[in-house]
Amino acid sequence: MIKRPKLSRTGQTRKTNASGLTRGEKFRVKTSRGRKISSVRWLQRQLNDPYVEAAHRDGYRARSAYKIIELDEKFSFLKKAKNIVDLGAAPGGWTQVVLKKCGKRVRVVGIDLLEIAPLDGATFLQMDFTSDEAEEELFELLEGPVDLVMSDMAAATTGHQQTDHIRTLALVEVAFDFAKKTLGEGGAFVTKVFRGGADQQLLIELRKCFKSVRHFKPPASRQHSAETYLVALGFKKEDV
Ligand code: SAM
Repeated sequence: MIKRPKLSRTGQTRKTNASGLTRGEKFRVKTSRGRKISSVRWLQRQLNDPYVEAAHRDGYRARSAYKIIELDEKFSFLKKAKNIVDLGAAPGGWTQVVLKKCGKRVRVVGIDLLEIAPLDGATFLQMDFTSDEAEEELFELLEGPVDLVMSDMAAATTGHQQTDHIRTLALVEVAFDFAKKTLGEGGAFVTKVFRGGADQQLLIELRKCFKSVRHFKPPASRQHSAETYLVALGFKKEDV
C-alpha cells in the first residue's frame, strides 16, 4: 500500500500525525552571502514540506508522485489501464506510482527532455516531445491503443505568469493532439494546466472528445502555485 502524508480536511498537516509530521516550519534556513534569497526560500520550503519527507520515506523520486496518487484516488483512471504514456516523466515519480499500483499488468512509455534512470516495466525516451521525431518514436514503442495519456509537462518558468501559462498551454495542446491519435475507446487523459483565462477553447475541444472533463487541484499541489490538473475520462474515439 502507498503511504502518504496524513492531511486534515483543509489539506493542512495535523499538529502531529501518524507519519510523525508536525505542523508548521521545522527548519529555518539563514541567508548568507552568496546564497540567493530564492534558493534559500526553495531550501526552506523543501525542508518543511511533508510531501518531500514522505517521498523520501516511500522511495519516490519526486514529491509530485503524490499528485497522481491523489488524482487517481478521486478519479480511478488507473484501475483498468494497461498501456500508459507518461509525458514529462522525469525524474520518474508518476511512473513509479503507476508501476507500484498496477504491477506487471501495465506497460509505461515515458518521455522527457531529461534523462530518466531506468525503472522495471517502463521504457523512457529522452527527447523533446514537441519535436516531429518524438511522435514517430513513441508510436513505434506503443503496442495497441493507449488507455491513459498523462502529462505533467511544464515549460521552464520565466517568472512571468501569463508567459508561463501560455507556454504550458502549448504543451497541453500537443499532448491533447497526441492523446486523440493514440487513445482507445474509453481512454483517459490527465494533464497539468495553469489557471488562467486562455484555456476555454481547449475545454470545449476536450468536452467534444470525452464523456467527462473535470479540473482538480490535488492537495499535494502547492496552494500558491497556479498549477492545476484536467482529468478527461471516457474517450469517444468515433467523435474525433
Ligand atoms: N511527473 C514527473 C514526476 O513525477 O517525476 C515530474 C514532471 S516535472 C514537473 C515536468 C517535466 O516536464 C520536466 O522534467 C521537464 O523536463 C519536462 N518537459 C518540459 N517540456 C518538455 C518537452 N517539450 N518535452 C519533454 N519533456 C518536457
